[in-house]
Amino acid sequence: MKNERNHELLEQYPQLKELAKKDTVFWENTNRMKKPKTMHFTMSEVEDAEETLQRFSSYLKVVFPELVKSDGLIESTIEEMAEMKNALEQRYDVSIPGQLLLKCDHNLPISGSIKARGGIYEVLKHAERLALASGKLKVEDDYVVLATEAFQSFFRHYTIAVGSTGNLGLSIGIMGKKLGFNVVVHMSSDAKKWKKDLLREKGATVIEYEADYSVAVEQGRQEAIQDPMCHFIDDENSKDLFAGYAVAAKRLKGQLEKANITVNSAHPLFVYLPCGVGGGPGGVAYGLRELFGEHVHIFFAEPVASPCMTLGLMTGLHDEISVEDIGLDNKTEADGLAVGRASKFVGKVMDTYISGCYTVKDEELFTSLALAMESEELFLEPSAHAGMFGPIQLMKNGQKYLEKHHLTDKMEQATHIVWATGGSMVPKEMREDYLKQTTL
Ligand SMILES: *Cc1c(COP(=O)(O)O)cnc(C)c1O
Repeated sequence: MKNERNHELLEQYPQLKELAKKDTVFWENTNRMKKPKTMHFTMSEVEDAEETLQRFSSYLKVVFPELVKSDGLIESTIEEMAEMKNALEQRYDVSIPGQLLLKCDHNLPISGSIKARGGIYEVLKHAERLALASGKLKVEDDYVVLATEAFQSFFRHYTIAVGSTGNLGLSIGIMGKKLGFNVVVHMSSDAKKWKKDLLREKGATVIEYEADYSVAVEQGRQEAIQDPMCHFIDDENSKDLFAGYAVAAKRLKGQLEKANITVNSAHPLFVYLPCGVGGGPGGVAYGLRELFGEHVHIFFAEPVASPCMTLGLMTGLHDEISVEDIGLDNKTEADGLAVGRASKFVGKVMDTYISGCYTVKDEELFTSLALAMESEELFLEPSAHAGMFGPIQLMKNGQKYLEKHHLTDKMEQATHIVWATGGSMVPKEMREDYLKQTTL
């Protein structure tokens, strides 16, 4: 660590040294509140998102036939992972009391990642705003009319731009092109080739950068400013993305109730969310804390090379510090999490909402990838495997947290949810490549 500020930070936050050395870190957030509050966001924005998605359901069913069976709802299931739990316990020599579930956002329709929530919502909201303002659409209309050529040629006058490490671009590109928009995706160096190829095939313009995510986002933002017909989806600041992600919380609550899974003071819920810039996990965490209060305990997971949220929360500097500032290179095979600087607004909100963060080494992500394949025939992309280490980290390094919150004797009744953030669209050859990167 180089400068004066870092020297002071190191004295104040000893765990920074471990972060800078790429050691695995479990960090407890002592600012978490029982009843957190934020001035930056309200549940009514989440309800608006739900209603907007509902209005579009008839349209979505027509243009994405895979949505017929869910009546136009973009949702994923929760599944028990008993075999994976055994595999993790054995491999890491730890007991995980309670039930281990997977939230299957890797199977979300349309784009196969958590970005199918926020990303698609922001595109739809923008399309609706334009169509309503033009007088061509009324809120009472059946939105299936948006599938007509008349609307396609209307949206063709407009552009949507985004900066991405891959999955957000994929979601925005697929949805935007389906509506008829011009779509420009600024892709960071981490973005996988197959994601760029697929986007080009769908008709999106893909601009590639040698630099990382923050640069791709900034370039996109600058270009978009110059074009009044262009809407920039700002992953570092967007409240619409956040609202779209948060919808998941209400749906999860319904799913848990249906599965007779109780969440209360005697039945704690632990949720482990892979984190990049923070929007996806942040939206989910916000919604879950609003709905389950103090009984839900949320941990964010990051690669050891890109712990931007851990760093921002730990130091209280949020987006004013980057992982490069502490000498990290932001290079990870977890492409969806390769972000060096956290979102401007999400970190500040999360400060009183989440229980903590932990980091994971890339080789562990591949170990988990192989374990999941072997035990459950489950494939998730490397980024999503960061969540699998949550229960292990909690049981190994979180004893103090559990004691402080009087949870130690309640763990047999606990539910652990690993949020599977992506994977179903990864091509077969890539999957095999990933699997080759580890032997158990
Ligand atoms: C984007 C992404 C995340 C994290 O979402 P952020 O909003 O960037 O924090 C996690 N997993 C996968 C697979 C992703 O693509």
